[in-house]
Amino acid sequence: TVRVRIAPSPTGYLHIGTARTAIYNYLFARQRGGKLILRIEDTDRERSEPRYTRSILEGFAWLGISFDEGPVYQSDRLGRYREVIEKLLAGGHAYYDYTSEAELEALRDEQRAAGLAPRYDNRHRDLSAEERAAFAREGRLPVIRFKIEASREVRWNDLVRGELSWSSADLGGDMVIARADGMPLYNLAVVIDDIDMAITHVIRGEDHIGNTPKQILLYEALEAAVPAFGHVPLIFSPEGRKLSKREGATAVIDFERMGYLSEAIVNYLALMSWTPADGQELFSLDRAAESFDIGRISHSPARFDWDKLTWMNGQYLNALSARELTERATPFLLASGFTLRPQDGPWLERVVPLTGRGLGRLSEIGNASRYLFAEAVSFEAEALGILRQSGIAAILTGFQQAVASLDGQLRQHFEAHFAQIAAPVETDEALFERLFFEQAPLRTVLSREASDEQLEAVGALVGDLHRQAEAALPQLLPALAKELGLKKGALMRPVRCALTGSAHGPDLVESIVLLHRRNRIRGRLEQALA
Ligand code: GLU
Repeated sequence: TVRVRIAPSPTGYLHIGTARTAIYNYLFARQRGGKLILRIEDTDRERSEPRYTRSILEGFAWLGISFDEGPVYQSDRLGRYREVIEKLLAGGHAYYDYTSEAELEALRDEQRAAGLAPRYDNRHRDLSAEERAAFAREGRLPVIRFKIEASREVRWNDLVRGELSWSSADLGGDMVIARADGMPLYNLAVVIDDIDMAITHVIRGEDHIGNTPKQILLYEALEAAVPAFGHVPLIFSPEGRKLSKREGATAVIDFERMGYLSEAIVNYLALMSWTPADGQELFSLDRAAESFDIGRISHSPARFDWDKLTWMNGQYLNALSARELTERATPFLLASGFTLRPQDGPWLERVVPLTGRGLGRLSEIGNASRYLFAEAVSFEAEALGILRQSGIAAILTGFQQAVASLDGQLRQHFEAHFAQIAAPVETDEALFERLFFEQAPLRTVLSREASDEQLEAVGALVGDLHRQAEAALPQLLPALAKELGLKKGALMRPVRCALTGSAHGPDLVESIVLLHRRNRIRGRLEQALA
């Protein structure tokens, strides 16, 4: 059966390049009914940190990439590496090299001066036991090198790139496989792990292409079956440079913070170098797994296209239900400093679809919704210009009076019915405001002696008032237009500017209803008229 793996090093937050390689491995495994294994390559003790391991695990979970096995930690396998190193030494495939750093430096200088590419000259390949003992007596610490055959053409049929071959002469001489302290280096540890985990297909970034011939030679020395290799192109910046921290976001967590949905990220990353045969651009991992074909991965470097990602994210945002969208948006609203009380739930579920549909990223929802949350708005220049035009004050005053008269009716209705219910209260100060606008929980307004029937009746009364407001508010502008002898459109612009601070924005009637729920209309109009 197919067994693939993703093997990140915990030396940084989960990178989107690693995420993309993981996605292709995941799709490959799913498509072939195989297994995906997570391996944490943490043998670099200085650079590996537990917080990065956590970020890798959390990042994959957020993206919806699950593993059939693992995580396996390389740091738990040091004994096994030691064992294989001994075997390679005993079999004559590896040897101790005592060359000092200064000697290596001198060798490289010499080669550079002669216009040659630096390579180790295998000088300690055939040391006698006496020579080794003499170096050890000098206090030199040896590294362990693997013998690279002098003239071999190493070939493999790359799953992505097709036939590739590499001359062993270009591998830099015998390669270091373990440090003086016995710590294995990347190429050796990876090969031992991939053998022990019975990995059948190694799918990884193109930056590892140069390691593949070295690894194939190690497989041969260890008399193990060589897996298939596939090298996927790297992600480049929009300008074609290597994607680095300077380009802004490079870690999966950065994208999460910017308000991209994991579904959109996964879709976008998969699509960067691969398109399903049916040309469909929007797909889930499940859908992609049905048609995934590693042979269709492009050979050319992928360029990161922010506009396309943001477009795609907008498509995913629009496809969410009001409730899902609200759930996803809530952390971003809280991050914008807005207060959300438990009783704001139903209101919020209308706010978020109103301001959130059509956005590219959830991180924009704070600004888009500010006019509904804030006490006061700041007016954009265009809105100010409109509000200063002649005749506008009359419109705003007219609208203000219409709202005030509606509020008066609602209050009267409330008072009459509340008196009938005769529910005991802690204090009757601002009862209407607290119950209707603030939607304070009934138990905090009525006194403890209030009966369940009274609580229920007050709840029904408040609900009824909200329905009345909801029915009446959309009528205010048309009625006012008639009264002033103006077209409705002539009223909408200034009212929108006054209420939202902007000449453009989401549906005005819904905005009016939601602002009225929070008793913000009067203040806004006063602010605009000032
Ligand atoms: N630890 C290596 C990396 O992060 C793994 C490469 C491989 O898949 O062999 O790039």
